Amino acid sequence: MATLQHLTVRQALNALQSGSLSSEELTRACLEQIEHLEGKIHAFITLTGEKALQEARRADQRRQAARQHPDEPLPALLGLPIAVKDVLTVAGLRCTCGSRILENFIPPFTATAVQRLLDAGVVIVGKTNTDEFAMGSSTENSAYGVTFNPWDRERVPGGSSGGSAAAVAARMVPAALGTDTGGSVRQPAAFCGVTGIKPTYGRVSRYGLVAYGSSLDTAGVLARTAEDTAILFWQMAGFDPLDATTVEYPLTGWTVPSPERLKGLRIGVPKEYFLPGMQLEVEEKVRAAIHTLAEWGASVHEISLPHTEYALPVYYLIAPAEASANLARYDGVRFGHRARAETLAEIFSRTRSEGFGAEVKRRIMLGTYALSAGYYDAYYGQAQKVRTLIRQDFDRAFQQVDVIAAPVAPTTAFRIGEHRDDPLAMYLEDVFTLPTNLAGVPGLAFPVGFDQQGLPVGMQLMAAHFQEDLLFSVAYLYQQRTDWHLKTPPLL
Ligand code: GLN
Repeated sequence: MATLQHLTVRQALNALQSGSLSSEELTRACLEQIEHLEGKIHAFITLTGEKALQEARRADQRRQAARQHPDEPLPALLGLPIAVKDVLTVAGLRCTCGSRILENFIPPFTATAVQRLLDAGVVIVGKTNTDEFAMGSSTENSAYGVTFNPWDRERVPGGSSGGSAAAVAARMVPAALGTDTGGSVRQPAAFCGVTGIKPTYGRVSRYGLVAYGSSLDTAGVLARTAEDTAILFWQMAGFDPLDATTVEYPLTGWTVPSPERLKGLRIGVPKEYFLPGMQLEVEEKVRAAIHTLAEWGASVHEISLPHTEYALPVYYLIAPAEASANLARYDGVRFGHRARAETLAEIFSRTRSEGFGAEVKRRIMLGTYALSAGYYDAYYGQAQKVRTLIRQDFDRAFQQVDVIAAPVAPTTAFRIGEHRDDPLAMYLEDVFTLPTNLAGVPGLAFPVGFDQQGLPVGMQLMAAHFQEDLLFSVAYLYQQRTDWHLKTPPLL
């Protein structure tokens, strides 16, 4: 019998609904797990234990009161504890973005994605660690210290949503929110052996997601199963008047798919996603998972996404360019850290010198250069054109196949410090995740095996715009017949 912290979202909701479990019990189990392991994992920047327990008790009272009115529907996630990446705002709760510059920033408003989950009844237990302003692939760029991978504490959990991935893997919470600008939900999900969705751009509101690369940023979910990820995703998704890039598109909600859904499913395997130099076991496990899906009725097709090799340079022009503009607001005047200085110009420059870490400064410089007069056309303008080509690669591919299967990252979790002095090696970790952000299509990462060192290997499924349901369904059917997603890190 699983102890409470091992319950999936689905199991927890069933138990809460049936009355066999209270939100207070479940929330307490999460908080105990956090207390037990946080010293070893450091998944959180801010914990909200007391408040979470109060909210949990309130949820229980509400459920109790509703027993007298069985016809009135209760919020779908009433009493479910979750964690939120510290780049999504929650009114009244410190939001650091992993940066010193926002060390004491208390946002006055709540991100729409979070608000919708709160409206659905979730209980927030804390804000999770992240690379500073979500810039990174390891959480090593957090001003609040690295998060340790629960599978091997000498290794990174991935990033930038590394705190959320580690918290879910370590059974501290059944689900957590992340953000994905170039892979930050999927890569940590892969490194920590959990499931993570990066939605279609425009599907989930970015209001209250502290901006990094606005044309790439998405808010997503990490959980232990595809079904759990889907349950939260459908509560967050949908048009939001506060984010003009969100769209009205049917919200189908989660329904358990029939195994028939795999029959005749066309899976594309892009040859550009299997590079010489990548970890052999990653390729083996991903190909084995594709083979398994084929045995259950899918057809497999080799495809080409010919502009894949340009995704990395294109992303590392567009994302820093947008970041350099977005981060201009941190000048010590209205909020966040303010340096002491005589003149306004000194306040600006000292505040930013003291408040930002090295990677953020590198991105601001890269981005400012790419946008500067005389270079704009050669860098930013050119990158935008190639971005269109990358998007067209996907459009063409999805005329031939229903989903695309590929590795999430070229390696399993790397050692803490391994890429510390080599930003380019760190950027290369993102080669397989960046293209979907540039194209705006959804991607889902989930575990498909382990390497010889016992580290999880993730596979990524991608689909055409707004086809998240297809991703959840295929991964769900895979997880129904495999148990990689149920394995627990040795430390537990
Ligand atoms: N690792 C990538 C970067 O550093 C992606 C980060 C993200 O998705 N937020 O920009």
